[in-house]
Amino acid sequence: MAVYYAVSGRVIVKLIDLHADTISSLYYDPLNWQVEQEFLLEQPVASLDKNLLHIDLDKLRQANSLAQFFVLWLNLKNCDKYRISPWQLFMKQYNLLREQITKYDEQINLVNNLATLFAASKSNKLAAFACVEEGGFIENEAQLYTAKELGISYITLVWNYETHIGVPAAVDQSRGLKEFGFKMVELMQQIGIMVDVSHLSDQGVHDVLKIATKPILATHSNARALCNHRRNLPDELITGIANNGGVIGVNCVPYFLSEHDETIRISQMVAHIRHIYNLSGEDVLAIGNDFDGFHATTPELDDIRNITDMPKLIAGLRDAGFSERQIEKIFYGNILRVIESNLG
Ligand SMILES: [Zn+2]
Repeated sequence: MAVYYAVSGRVIVKLIDLHADTISSLYYDPLNWQVEQEFLLEQPVASLDKNLLHIDLDKLRQANSLAQFFVLWLNLKNCDKYRISPWQLFMKQYNLLREQITKYDEQINLVNNLATLFAASKSNKLAAFACVEEGGFIENEAQLYTAKELGISYITLVWNYETHIGVPAAVDQSRGLKEFGFKMVELMQQIGIMVDVSHLSDQGVHDVLKIATKPILATHSNARALCNHRRNLPDELITGIANNGGVIGVNCVPYFLSEHDETIRISQMVAHIRHIYNLSGEDVLAIGNDFDGFHATTPELDDIRNITDMPKLIAGLRDAGFSERQIEKIFYGNILRVIESNLG
């Protein structure tokens, strides 16, 4: 599926980025950060159309965005402390996401499948997918159906805490999905919510691959062979996800790119893409930067400072010998295929 946008004779490659924490970040005061802010979410301190974060509507347009996946990041640890259930915290953030998108609906629409995505694009609007990073807000099957009705497009099964769903890489790589986790993956794929395995333990990803009937996502993970971080994927899981027909969102998070270098370099992103390509081919590659979910340590030296710098990666891939067709698959084509087979 080719989506070309020619501007003064030059073909512009569109971008679908699989993972950004922007919505959750709108509610933190950068000068006065405190954990309470995520539980007291009422009025955003910044707005989606223009802000100092990695992503806003202007920046999405500059990046030639076709669609942006926005996650609602739920930190379960403090739910008890602030006497709020994970589901209530989810609804709070979900309502704030809807509010922001509705406020700027001349510029951006909420979408949840290919038809709504292309309808937005046709009317010259940006597209936003609503997703959740932390499956722990789902405690029964009925809640999963409600999440689908609300238009949730993917759920990252676990974040960094062990739950009734499974065990994250941050806790123990050798223990995986729990009984409810197996049921949840089956039901998600039945009703049309994509399964995201980023943050899950190695055993957990194996478990998901064993029972998956649809292509899965690792929305923001790099290659462990190049950077030995627990959040990155070992070669056998990269191959496993490729064989499943899923995609891996390569990202610019400095500690997922390199163990020795804190600067975000295009050359390192290209190296991760090259490694995954050599191992498993071009169909498994996508982009998932985790924008607004990490802090840069050398911002003055970084090749990528926010989403508007993504065209630099296109240039880097061209220089490294990737063809235009391959770059288009990496930037949006492969994820369109996975959206179609999961969400229609
Ligand atoms: Zn994450």
